[in-house]
Amino acid sequence: VPDTPCRTRFAPSPTGYLHLGSLRTALFNYLLARASGGQFILRIEDTDQSRLVPDAEQRLFEDLHWTGLSWDEGPDVQGPYGPYRQSERLQLYNEHIDILLREGKAYRCFCSPEELEQHKRAAHGQGHATHYPGTCRAISHDQSDERAHNGDAFAVRFKSSSEPTTVIDLVYNRYRKAEPEEDFILKKRDGFPTYHFANIVDDKLMKITHVIRGAEWLISTPKHVELYNAFGWTPPQFAHVGLLVDANRQKLSKRHQGVDMAWYKDQKILPSALLNFAGLLGRSRPGAKNDVMTLQDMIDTFSLKFTKGDIVVAFDKLPYL
Ligand code: GLU
Repeated sequence: VPDTPCRTRFAPSPTGYLHLGSLRTALFNYLLARASGGQFILRIEDTDQSRLVPDAEQRLFEDLHWTGLSWDEGPDVQGPYGPYRQSERLQLYNEHIDILLREGKAYRCFCSPEELEQHKRAAHGQGHATHYPGTCRAISHDQSDERAHNGDAFAVRFKSSSEPTTVIDLVYNRYRKAEPEEDFILKKRDGFPTYHFANIVDDKLMKITHVIRGAEWLISTPKHVELYNAFGWTPPQFAHVGLLVDANRQKLSKRHQGVDMAWYKDQKILPSALLNFAGLLGRSRPGAKNDVMTLQDMIDTFSLKFTKGDIVVAFDKLPYL
């Protein structure tokens, strides 16, 4: 564990319930913050309004309370704290969008959904993995301002680099795609920021030092690093954690029994047993004196060791790599 306080976060989207895999990443973030004397932040990433599940947020709070993973801060100073909710921070994202527009690092895209569909088909026909050909890059500043002023609907896109960006990750080491990113969307036509944009603005403003999250986000991280660079910000340290899979190597999903917290509660499984299970998955503790650790035992003995493909959580104080 680093000897400076780490600020970590758990940033679920309320599009589903807490499950074993997300509990595991929440636990790692929690332990890194607690073991280093730092803070653990809960942030609800609710910018995809079309996919919101109405009771997901409430269930998430209940499930986190049940596990005992408490978070530290949020806009609501009267406890229980926070959490941060991205839908309540739109002004902040807009301010940051304006910076990139002003500096010519982003542009408005007025393409209609039908035009985008055409671009997509054309790109597909040519065997390109990327879709958007950057059509609206050609619109002049004045023209763009005028069209926006006249109420034409637009999205905001990032002027991506023409070279793939290398990501440094504590688990995967160096990660680089074969192709550069397309000019990806920062702000959607509905006025909400995309996950990528809100995520990096928040990680910066919330002074997050370590981002531990599922490996499915590694492919998005080059976009994030490009955005950090565009603002002149230093990215946090990334650690992408291997996904939990079933015996057939299929990603754990809602179809699997025993994934949702509701199932564990129904089975009368104690939260401490579940945390031990989540924390020690894929790991044995040869020679350990006690079979069951309390959350405090975990905090006291927690250390991370990063290996290719996963984080090994060692509750025996390995050196921090
Ligand atoms: N909102 C994303 C999710 O639901 C979080 C990804 C991240 O931690 O950056 O998994």
